Amino acid sequence: MYYTGLYCSACGEPHDHQVPQNICVKCGKPLFARYDLEAAGRTLTPESLRTRGKSLWRYREVLPVRDEADIVTFGEGWTPLLPVPRLGSRLGVERLLIKDESQNPTQSFKARGMAAAVSMAKQFGLQKLAVPSAGNAAGALAAYAARAGIEAHIFMPADTPRANIIECRESGANVTLINGLITDCGAEVARRKAEEGWFDVSTLKEPYRVEGKKTLGYELAEQLGWKLPDAVLYPTGGGTGLIGMWKAFDEMEKLGWIDSRRPRLYTVQAAGCAPIVRAFKEGKRFADEFLNAATRASGLRVPKAIGDFLMIDALKASRGGVVAVTDTEMFVAIRELGAAEGIFAAPEGAACVAGLKTLLAQGWIQPDEQVVLFNTGAGVKYLECFED
Ligand SMILES: *Cc1c(COP(=O)(O)O)cnc(C)c1O
Ligand SMILES: [Zn+2]
Repeated sequence: MYYTGLYCSACGEPHDHQVPQNICVKCGKPLFARYDLEAAGRTLTPESLRTRGKSLWRYREVLPVRDEADIVTFGEGWTPLLPVPRLGSRLGVERLLIKDESQNPTQSFKARGMAAAVSMAKQFGLQKLAVPSAGNAAGALAAYAARAGIEAHIFMPADTPRANIIECRESGANVTLINGLITDCGAEVARRKAEEGWFDVSTLKEPYRVEGKKTLGYELAEQLGWKLPDAVLYPTGGGTGLIGMWKAFDEMEKLGWIDSRRPRLYTVQAAGCAPIVRAFKEGKRFADEFLNAATRASGLRVPKAIGDFLMIDALKASRGGVVAVTDTEMFVAIRELGAAEGIFAAPEGAACVAGLKTLLAQGWIQPDEQVVLFNTGAGVKYLECFED
C-alpha cells in the first residue's frame, strides 16, 4: 500500500496509522495522511485513469484503505462538472462551471468523506461510530454505516432539515436531537463516547473524511484536462472540502501532474455564521467562535471549526479570499440557478452563486476568468425552507 503514515497538520507529530486515531495527541489539531507518492505514481497516472471506474475510488492509490474488500461504496464521486453558460451570461462571467455534488449518494458531497471514513472504520473493525452533524454528514454516515453493518449514533440540532432526520432514522441510525448548535452536539458526543465505546467521526477529528473529500481536487484537475481553473468558490462550514482540495493540489504537483499554480480559493459563508470570513478579514489565523449563529443553510452553521488555520492558510497562499452572503441572497440565487440551468441547489450551493455576484462586483474575479462553483447538496432536502 501507498499510505505510509499519519502526521499532525500543525506540529508535525507522527501518529501510528495502523490503529484508529482522532486528533493530534500533542496539540489537538487535525491529522493528515501521507502517501508514498513516488510509488503511487507508477500505477496511478493520467493515462491509467482513462479506463478506471467512475467513482472516487479511481484514485485508490492516494486513498487510505488497504484491502479492496473493506471499501464501503455506493459509487460516490466522479460527479459532473457542468458548464452553466446561461447563468454565466446572467452574472457576467464567460466561463462558469458548477461541480454538481448533489448527484452523490445521499445527495451531498458528505458521501465522499463518509465513504472513506466508514471504509477505514470497517478496516479497523470499529463497531460504533458517532457524529455531530448539521444534517448531510448525518445522512451520509447513516447510509454508509448501514451498508458496512456498523452502528451509527447521530447528534443533530433539533431544527436540522426534516429530510436529514428522517433519512437517518430510516437508515437505521440512532438519532438524538439537541436544542442547540452543531458545537453542542459535538460536546455531547465528546462527553459520552468513552463510556459508550463510540468512535468519533466529527469533521477533521478523524483523518479520513478529508481524504475522501480531497478527491474533489483530483476530479477538478482531471475533468479540466489537468489545468486548474482561475477561481474556486466553496461554501464553507468545517472546511473539509477546501482543506482536502488544497492537499490534493499538493499531492498532484508531487505526482508531476500539475505545476505550482493554484486556483484562487474563496470561502463563502452565511452572514449569520461567518467565523472564517471574520477571522480572515481581521488577519487572524485562528477563528473565534461565531456567537448566535443563524442561517437556513444548515451545512454552513458551524460556529467554530478545528481546521480554521488550515483554511485560512490555503485562502492566503492561493491569493483568494472570503465572502459572506445573506439567506435572502441565497434563496434568490436558488431560483436563479434553477431557472437558468435546471439545477435545484441546496442553499449552501446557491451561496456560491450569490458570493460570485459580490466578488465580480468588487473586482476580485474578472469576467474572462474560468470560475468553478460547488453545489454541495440538493435543494430537495430543504423543502421546509420554501414557501408553497
Ligand atoms: C457540510 C456541508 C457544507 C460545508 O462543508 P464543509 O466541508 O464542512 O466545509 C456545504 N454544503 C453542504 C450542502 C453541506 O452539507
Ligand atoms: Zn500536533
